Amino acid sequence: MANDKRKKGCPNEQCEMHVKKVKQKASINFCPICGTKLIYVCAKCFTEIEDIDDKHRVCKLCEAEAVEKRKKRVDGAKKVAGKAGKGVAGAVVPVAAGIVHAVVQKGQKDAVKKGVKVVEDVAKAALKK
Ligand SMILES: [Zn+2]
Ligand SMILES: [Zn+2]
Repeated sequence: MANDKRKKGCPNEQCEMHVKKVKQKASINFCPICGTKLIYVCAKCFTEIEDIDDKHRVCKLCEAEAVEKRKKRVDGAKKVAGKAGKGVAGAVVPVAAGIVHAVVQKGQKDAVKKGVKVVEDVAKAALKK
């Protein structure tokens, strides 16, 4: 039980540990104020949760909320990536011109190497003409 990070709370509505929603360690079994047997509570909102396992730390509501937040973050990232994608498309022409130049100079920078590799042969072919 050393790694049990769940929270316990006092279910006694008269007890200040309950009123103040004080979260106690999972290793504590009885409320230090009133002596009531502690119950596992949601680590976020103090709602009683079932004693399933030590990975079950938040209630269904908070879990759903967390999933929702994660989803929103992913959506946000996708939007940013989409914008970046458009930006990259617009930048392809000058980059390609730069690559031709770099190939000629034989002094390519590492940062563009991945992109260069693909275009390099095309650029070389174009230069031979
Ligand atoms: Zn108590
Ligand atoms: Zn909760």
